[in-house]
Amino acid sequence: MGNKIEIHKGDITKLSVDAIVNAANTSLLGGAGVDGAIHRAAGPKLLEYNKKLGGCPTGEARISPGFNLPAKHVISTVGPVWNGGNRNEDELLANCYRNSLRIAFENNIKTIAFPSISTGVYRFPVERASKIAVKEVKDFLDKNPSIEKVIFVCFDDKTYDVYKNIL
Ligand code: ADP
Repeated sequence: MGNKIEIHKGDITKLSVDAIVNAANTSLLGGAGVDGAIHRAAGPKLLEYNKKLGGCPTGEARISPGFNLPAKHVISTVGPVWNGGNRNEDELLANCYRNSLRIAFENNIKTIAFPSISTGVYRFPVERASKIAVKEVKDFLDKNPSIEKVIFVCFDDKTYDVYKNIL
């Protein structure tokens, strides 16, 4: 099971996987950080498609085609904004990973890449977030062997070092 999990340093929009996960906001209509990069690389059809989805609550996830991306699908999930840690942030972040993986499983996705959800503009501490991310992915893979590969994509050195230490 451990060898199904990889860490990759770089830009998630470059990966040829079945699905990349987007750290979106509740509108699903684009934003800063990885969200902006994914919308730019996917092209305007992603925005057009997502307008029909009618948004997404925090902790849930929605699937779209990848359009111009090398990835076949985009799974958009909405991470919690960090508010000190007593506003259910941990559980909401865990839900992002669980719900994204559930949608991947339901759509027969075998390879999936995650960015570090909520640890950018949403300020969730990356050490704490990465423990939640790894735990949820391991728990899911234990129960759902059909997913073949999960890649944690780290955009910056600090995030990469944190994930390397925990894995
Ligand atoms: P959030 O609003 O959920 O905090 P951000 O996009 O601001 O989302 O940040 C989440 C993480 O995604 C950060 O670690 C940021 O460095 C990273 N990131 C930004 N651009 C990319 C990209 N193109 N590929 C992968 N990760 C990225």
